Amino acid sequence: MSFVSVQHLQKSYAATPVFSDINCEIAKGEFVTLLGPSGCGKSTLLRCIAGLTPVDSGQILLDGQDIVPVSPQKRHIGMVFQSYALFPNMTVEQNVAFGLRMQKVNSDDSHKRVQEVLQLVELKDLAGRYPHQMSGGQCQRVALARSLVTRPRLLLLDEPLSALDARIRKHLREQIRQIQRELGLTTIFVTHDQEEALVMSDRIFLMNQGKIVQSGDAETLYTAPVDAFAAGFIGNYNLLDAEQASKLLQRPVNGRIAIRPESIELNRSGELDALVRSHSLLGNVIRYRIEARGVELVVDVLNRSAQDLHADGQRLALSIDPAALCEVA
Ligand code: ADP
Repeated sequence: MSFVSVQHLQKSYAATPVFSDINCEIAKGEFVTLLGPSGCGKSTLLRCIAGLTPVDSGQILLDGQDIVPVSPQKRHIGMVFQSYALFPNMTVEQNVAFGLRMQKVNSDDSHKRVQEVLQLVELKDLAGRYPHQMSGGQCQRVALARSLVTRPRLLLLDEPLSALDARIRKHLREQIRQIQRELGLTTIFVTHDQEEALVMSDRIFLMNQGKIVQSGDAETLYTAPVDAFAAGFIGNYNLLDAEQASKLLQRPVNGRIAIRPESIELNRSGELDALVRSHSLLGNVIRYRIEARGVELVVDVLNRSAQDLHADGQRLALSIDPAALCEVA
């Protein structure tokens, strides 16, 4: 049985619907990500689950119980926001203990639990600091500790890494995932960053315009996008319409075809003539704009040696692995 089950969830702001029929199931201990472009309804869905935003209709079952009529405080759900929302006049320790004080947990238990959770997020040494004395990444770990200390049944993370710089982000996403696994805590994470979703999640719910358009693990979403939107959002697919695809493959193609940039091989004697239009060096990858049979393609090549670097205007050949062609709606 699912631990979280969202059924026919509907939410509008005034006359504008955000979503009209959201359905999803999440297993206990699973880490799922709501991924999608800004405005597609990710935060609204998360806030409906937390109880911060009222729903118009539908059910949200948590461990078998419909929580829609339950107040946010009684749902036992933890939530972390992009803006850490710490109390500036309280120390790390006091910030983390706050939720326990509200629950009237006695001070001995509270102290013990705060210490445990500070250890978990590696902030024990900073317990006496104030938020303004800490970096963004450290503040976000306090926010995480503050929601974990109440031992929530479900953890909701709304773009918690988006305000942090790239290096801290990468470190913190690993730390969050490790803690989540250690605690076996069912977690719903919201992001618009595909890489973050791919590396962190057991499962991804890809959203667009108020709908979950595809769900699956990272590999499924990456290798088998269901439609042009999914192909465009995950990976840097080349999306060809039927005419372009027929021209390139020299056979009749009826639908659209998506080809991943790394599944095209550039070589000196392949089946197709290719012309390098331009290239950019992305570190370990060189991204080429190639023209072949009048069709423009993006091709990613691993930057292993000088041989992989081709000048603009150079004539080459390319081959496409047929298994990497993906028909999309
Ligand atoms: P996302 O998290 O995917 O960026 P949101 O859930 O924040 O998307 O927003 C979904 C849609 O609902 C957007 O069109 C947004 O403008 C609208 N919306 C969100 N919150 C409110 C609100 N409080 N009042 C009116 N419209 C809102």
